[in-house]
Amino acid sequence: MSTHTPPGMDRLAIHTITLKPWSLRKAVENYARVGAKGITVWRDKLGEMPIPEARDMISSEGLEVVATCRGGFFPGVDAETRQKGIDDNLKAIEEAHAIGAPMVVLVCGAVPGQPLEESRKQIQDGIEAVLPRAIDAGVKLAIEPLHPMYADDRSAINTLGQANDMCEGIGSTHVGVALDVYHLWWDPALEAEIQRCGELGALYAFHVCDWLTPTKDMLLDRGIMGDGCINVPEIRSWVESAGFTGMIEVEIFSNELWAGDQAEYLDRIVHAYQTHT
Ligand code: ZN
Repeated sequence: MSTHTPPGMDRLAIHTITLKPWSLRKAVENYARVGAKGITVWRDKLGEMPIPEARDMISSEGLEVVATCRGGFFPGVDAETRQKGIDDNLKAIEEAHAIGAPMVVLVCGAVPGQPLEESRKQIQDGIEAVLPRAIDAGVKLAIEPLHPMYADDRSAINTLGQANDMCEGIGSTHVGVALDVYHLWWDPALEAEIQRCGELGALYAFHVCDWLTPTKDMLLDRGIMGDGCINVPEIRSWVESAGFTGMIEVEIFSNELWAGDQAEYLDRIVHAYQTHT
């Protein structure tokens, strides 16, 4: 690998869930204090204050809302369940519009025991059902492929190739991809599919963290960049070669990190962003 050039602080965005113990207000104040420029707001935080108030607070601290997390979960065994998924995504689009987020990240969903092809078809149908509202609201939809260990119940879209195929199949300027190193680092086709995603104009978002060995919890044991086995700077170089110039979003779920001092943990994130991203 060539020498590492740290990304500028003006590209650092942090998800609210990364510092989960903090309220939205506390997260915003502290992210601004350390020099981050973006925030991705998880929907659980939207109940803490009226959305217009949250929007004003975020912009008055000089932060940009990069996205809201998350919509998706389209598949279901019956039409009624799938309609509930569609309704929730319509709500997510309205919320994103209200808080000034340009996109909603989609964790697309899956149903244990249902063939993955069927779930993928239901995902595409669901996205197409909410797409007109997304276009009207000026909100893009970012499909986030998840690691195959979540193929049973969280996402039937598990590679960037599958996400690119779906974007190509839908063919909209409002449907693209959120690329998360945690989910995709292992894929031998990753560099080529990142290039393809860029050519499709579909590379909307870039999420970073690290893969710990051993991973003690399938969902809630992600590491800070540099603490695990993912070559984040190399993947970032591929993403930038494909034309991505957006925010670099730190998204970490970790029971262990949430249990410690959050201000210290935020300082570690900033250091890891500058040295291992
Ligand atoms: Zn992610």
